[in-house]
Amino acid sequence: VRISYADLEKIQVLGHGNGGTVYKVRHKRTDNTYALKVVHGETDATVRRQVFREMEILRRTDSPYTVKCHGIFETPSGDIAILMEYMDAGNLETLLRSNGTFSESKLRDVASQILKGLTYLHSLKVIHRDIKPSNLLVDRKMRVKISDFGVSKIMCRTLDACNSYVGTCAYMSPERFDPDAYGGNYNGYAGDIWSLGLTLLELYMGHFPFLQPGQRPDWATLMCAICFGDPPGLPGGASEEFRSFIECCLQKESSKRWTAEQLLNHPFLCKDKKSDQ
Ligand code: ATP
Ligand code: MG
Repeated sequence: VRISYADLEKIQVLGHGNGGTVYKVRHKRTDNTYALKVVHGETDATVRRQVFREMEILRRTDSPYTVKCHGIFETPSGDIAILMEYMDAGNLETLLRSNGTFSESKLRDVASQILKGLTYLHSLKVIHRDIKPSNLLVDRKMRVKISDFGVSKIMCRTLDACNSYVGTCAYMSPERFDPDAYGGNYNGYAGDIWSLGLTLLELYMGHFPFLQPGQRPDWATLMCAICFGDPPGLPGGASEEFRSFIECCLQKESSKRWTAEQLLNHPFLCKDKKSDQ
């Protein structure tokens, strides 16, 4: 079914992102709910480039683990609007704030969904480059989908511009800051795995792993910690499998990090669910 922009009714603002606003909208004819990301037509070239990149990737992807795109419009006022499936439970960041930290068994389910999404994206040669709790959308059935492809990259022949400074630096892997030291065998996909490891740690601990709870990030210190410090790990009380899983994600040397496909077969995810508690 083709949806026309005129048939959409804005219900509420879901949030503001870089250069755009996301609305919850209702399709008047079907009464279906969607999310609509509106980006002002007059934004600067960088933001516009991000929007086009996001649209390009959304058009190519179709998976239960990545947010679906139902159409792209130019609005009467010259803005660009992307119609997406509506995820009715927010994102992993808002969920952490409202429901508190995630248990291991919850994280097992979350991690395996994100990894299925990453395996899919990486198989299409798409590197997300901005995996973090707020870009992982959730619905009430606890389905998790990867969203926000604004700074993603479609790999072609070369690995060149992968190092360009985009995305949220906090979740960026050591080799993105210092490719010579940690990217001997530079592999852009491994950056997404590092970000996944930090994301899972944050959901488990309740705060960003490189910072104390409530501590404000100071970028220089944070970058030094990422590049020169030991990778963060789990506090006591976590299972051996979970600990090992996080270690496989947070190897500083990118070539030692497991791939999304390998991680899907890690004992942490394969562990018999019934034996848990
Ligand atoms: P950034 O630009 O730093 O990535 P952001 O992630 O907050 O910021 P967006 O990805 O544009 O920006 O999203 C803005 C808000 O809208 C977020 O709170 C997000 O959870 C929500 N949102 C985005 N897409 C959807 C969707 N398809 N369904 C429900 N909520 C969504
Ligand atoms: Mg986002």
